[in-house]
Amino acid sequence: MLEEMGLTPIWRLRESTVPAEQAPAAASAAVLEPRSTIHESPQPAAGQKPRITNHESRITDSSDRRATIMRMEWPGLKEAVASCVACPLHAKRNKTVFGVGDENADWLFVGEGPGADEDAQGEPFVGQAGRLLDNMLAAIRLQRGQNVYIANVVKCRPPGNRNPQPAEALSCEPYLHRQIDLIRPKLIIALGKVAAANLLASDASVASMRGKVHDYRGTPLIVTYHPAYLLRSLQDKAKAWADLCFAVKTMQGLQESKTAAS
Ligand code: URA
Repeated sequence: MLEEMGLTPIWRLRESTVPAEQAPAAASAAVLEPRSTIHESPQPAAGQKPRITNHESRITDSSDRRATIMRMEWPGLKEAVASCVACPLHAKRNKTVFGVGDENADWLFVGEGPGADEDAQGEPFVGQAGRLLDNMLAAIRLQRGQNVYIANVVKCRPPGNRNPQPAEALSCEPYLHRQIDLIRPKLIIALGKVAAANLLASDASVASMRGKVHDYRGTPLIVTYHPAYLLRSLQDKAKAWADLCFAVKTMQGLQESKTAAS
């Protein structure tokens, strides 16, 4: 597939293929960025009884809605996304795209939002960019669904594959936020500018965010290029490969520090 897309050679996990200057720093040497400015919204005021419902249409107040979503378990969360009408994106969708994979995964990959293929199938990253993502996963010996979860910032397709608008991303934020809380991944990989900007509440470029371990509400987060961007910008493929190697080293460091602590 990579050959067909002109992205050969096929990526393989070989330490020696990463030039010394690109080689990822050990996790222990990773730069920890300040905490993300995204925080949970306030809980309902004292004495105010929280309203629990899975039906999005019945949730009116935005902080109440967020608090309600933040208490949902997987079945309620999936139902809430499937019936969501919280932003205008719902009007033109065919299917919501909740996310897919191992609900106890160590690895969470976050993209931007569904495209046409994902909107038709209801699964993230099933188009051409998805095939590249699968190859990127295979390159670091990962596989969709096996210790890997894949989600998006927004669950409905933005028309014409435009970027989600800030208000749309904000409406959808509690869903991703809750998915992350339920999965409790060891490491999040933000795929591209939209994912990084929303998860880290930063307008910095992908180039400036790469090569560091950021913090998303206590979970380490690494930024790399979006697969769709890599399909257009082959010159950055080597950088994405370096990012994946950095992510693998970071994960190894996280696993080692957990073993040492137990
Ligand atoms: N691009 C994304 O960011 N997410 C998808 O699910 C598909 C393409």
